[in-house]
Amino acid sequence: MVKVCRPRERTNHKGVPMLSVQPKGKQKGCAGCNRKIKDRYLLKALDKYWHEDCLKCACCDCRLGEVGSTLYTKANLILCRRDYLRLFGTTGNCAACSKLIPAFEMVMRARDNVYHLDCFACQLCNQRFCVGDKFFLKNNMILCQMDYEEGQLNGSFDSQVQ
Ligand SMILES: [Zn+2]
Ligand SMILES: [Zn+2]
Ligand SMILES: [Zn+2]
Ligand SMILES: [Zn+2]
Repeated sequence: MVKVCRPRERTNHKGVPMLSVQPKGKQKGCAGCNRKIKDRYLLKALDKYWHEDCLKCACCDCRLGEVGSTLYTKANLILCRRDYLRLFGTTGNCAACSKLIPAFEMVMRARDNVYHLDCFACQLCNQRFCVGDKFFLKNNMILCQMDYEEGQLNGSFDSQVQ
């Protein structure tokens, strides 16, 4: 018997902090376009200065200054969180539907298995579970208490090949 835990984000990749600063003293050059930054605010990230418009995700072109306060880098690319995880995050297959789970999606875990949130239900009666509910893993199937006990009674589990 296992208890349902809170869904978790699968990755704990840390982003690079991004700061919005007011330029002081000498005008700084933008690391994106190499021109001087004359704006009232500029972005500081990766020890470089950027126009707010020049710090963009290499994949989807979104302005990172607006998306949040972190960016991600890998292989000389500057990426937003979503693209970073899509490209470099670890993915797994859902143990119920065996489709791939994108790395940025929340998952449920039971033992070594991961599940889509939508797939995490009793595989016989489709009952969904809440945090703290009890469920059972038998022959790699998620079962609610009722179906588990019923299966124990008529011995249907033991005849199945593990
Ligand atoms: Zn620029
Ligand atoms: Zn992006
Ligand atoms: Zn699934
Ligand atoms: Zn059930």
